[in-house]
Amino acid sequence: MRPFWIYLVLALGAALLLYALSASEGRISYARFRELAERKEIAELEIKGDVYVGRTAPDPATRAPRSIRTGRIEGSEKELLAALDQRGIPYTRTADDHGLPGAMWWLLPIGGAIVLVHLASRKVPASAPTNPVLTFGKNKARLYADLTTPTRFRDVAGSVEAKTELAEIVEFLRSPDRYRRLGGRMPKGVLLVGPPGTGKTLLARAVAGEASVPFFSASGSEFVEMFVGVGAARVRDLFTQAREKGPCIVFIDELDAVGKARGMSGPIGGNDEREQTLNQLLTEMDGFDVHVGMIVIAATNRAEVLDPALLRAGRFDRRIYVDRPDLAERYEILGVHGRKVALAPDADLGVIAAQTAGLVGADLANVVNEAALLAARRRATAVAQEDLDASIERVLAGLERRGRRLGAREKLIVAYHEVGHALAAELLPTQDKVRKVSIVPRGAGALGYTMQQPAEDRYLWSRQEILDKLVVLLGGRVAEEEIFGDLSTGAQDDLLNATDLARRMVRELGMGRSVGLSALESRRTMSFLSGDRASGGAGGGARECSDATAREVDAEVAGILAEAEARARELLQGRRETLERIAKRLYEVETMTGEELRAMMVC
Ligand code: ADP
Ligand code: MG
Ligand code: ZN
Repeated sequence: MRPFWIYLVLALGAALLLYALSASEGRISYARFRELAERKEIAELEIKGDVYVGRTAPDPATRAPRSIRTGRIEGSEKELLAALDQRGIPYTRTADDHGLPGAMWWLLPIGGAIVLVHLASRKVPASAPTNPVLTFGKNKARLYADLTTPTRFRDVAGSVEAKTELAEIVEFLRSPDRYRRLGGRMPKGVLLVGPPGTGKTLLARAVAGEASVPFFSASGSEFVEMFVGVGAARVRDLFTQAREKGPCIVFIDELDAVGKARGMSGPIGGNDEREQTLNQLLTEMDGFDVHVGMIVIAATNRAEVLDPALLRAGRFDRRIYVDRPDLAERYEILGVHGRKVALAPDADLGVIAAQTAGLVGADLANVVNEAALLAARRRATAVAQEDLDASIERVLAGLERRGRRLGAREKLIVAYHEVGHALAAELLPTQDKVRKVSIVPRGAGALGYTMQQPAEDRYLWSRQEILDKLVVLLGGRVAEEEIFGDLSTGAQDDLLNATDLARRMVRELGMGRSVGLSALESRRTMSFLSGDRASGGAGGGARECSDATAREVDAEVAGILAEAEARARELLQGRRETLERIAKRLYEVETMTGEELRAMMVC
């Protein structure tokens, strides 16, 4: 605090001194001024408010004109001007110069710069006393509070799983007392994870609407301000206001903007501001009492970059995935938005849903909206199929340019690839049953996915299980090759996982012949089959081994992979008809449950 004020006082003093010097420069009495004017020693006169500024004829010595000034005398101005007229001295009147603005010209930049430098370098303790500069976050948060929200779950189409999970929270918000009496512990924070436009904000609003509690919202990017400390102050204000309201929802959009793992900041060194904001958020999350009925819902499309501290118990410990919609869900979403416009009898939303694979809720809302605009443009009374078709074309063209949509052929390749994984998993008895197969793109890079349902938590895997796992991992690639006679880049991740697994068998687990029992890698955290490469990248804790051994290891790894590939091929070649039938079905419906998959395998 102290140095700041010292700087300010010094700056003020310096500015005033400079001003005083500049103002007194060439200052003379009125009588003398007038005398000079009458002697025609003033070449030009400027009346600046209450000051006369005269420019003398160029000084013979310096050859520069001098500036002289004097205070204006009200009663005698007429006389003076008449004298000037008589002698042909030009005069002008310019904007008021009261003196104070003159001083301000010196003061503003200096003072401003000092305030900026000070704020930017400032660390605000978590509970800083209210500082006038910092409270300007306050009103902002209040602006974002909706006391009542009209959104309901029925406005959110699809997302059945997310809605089911959130329904529990609605129950809690409606009657926190009941949960309190039972001693139940509700989550403080819920993290909605999903790509942009999938309805995360909409879901959060619907929770507030269903529970009829106030909805406070702010975006992570708003917290990351230019000034250090402002973000933290805003977080504090947001929570203070929310707490006053009793049961409520605090929604933080774009959590990753503040919640990125500390120490992961960009190349320009650490980001103090973001870190402080994050710390403040953590403090607030820990600080509030669950029984008030306040629940923090945050949204992100990149859960993997979040600071682990945010995901710890008592913070955002519940994660809900909001995926891109599949065919049925797209139809439902179109229905929700179609209800808001007048649809002509020929408009078929089913056709639109089938043509919009890869689009998210926001895109679909956009399709309906564009169609309504097109209909209005042709002065129609209802939105016809032609409007919807034209509108899809526009929206799709925009998305394809941004590379966000799969073409028909890509979609088919992904379908075969995923069914290849799924069939292998179902056919090998050691492997977990399939829970869901999907060709709806998920997360970064994954064009489709096959989810297996672990029967129970596992800590031990047999050699045979790992070998079978490799068959499942390679099944996708093999299916592509079998059907299209060619390979795509889509199997890259599978190959990485498979190679990693095979190497670990040989190097660490004593399951290979070349190395035998001598482990080449030191112990590391066992997240064995989870595909968690980050926790132990290749060579993480590598131990010395001879070149000859390294070569042997490589050869053996290649052998294991080749064998797994051959087994996958054998498995799928014998079931080519099944593979095609299921892949074509998956291409149409985009997601299948394990049960649907198994039903199609038997017939
Ligand atoms: P996100 O927060 O995930 O980026 P939003 O909730 O902001 O997505 O969604 C933007 C808009 O898209 C919503 O206002 C809504 O009109 C539409 N939308 C998205 N998902 C759905 C859905 N599941 N059902 C209905 N409309 C949706
Ligand atoms: Mg949003
Ligand atoms: Zn794959």
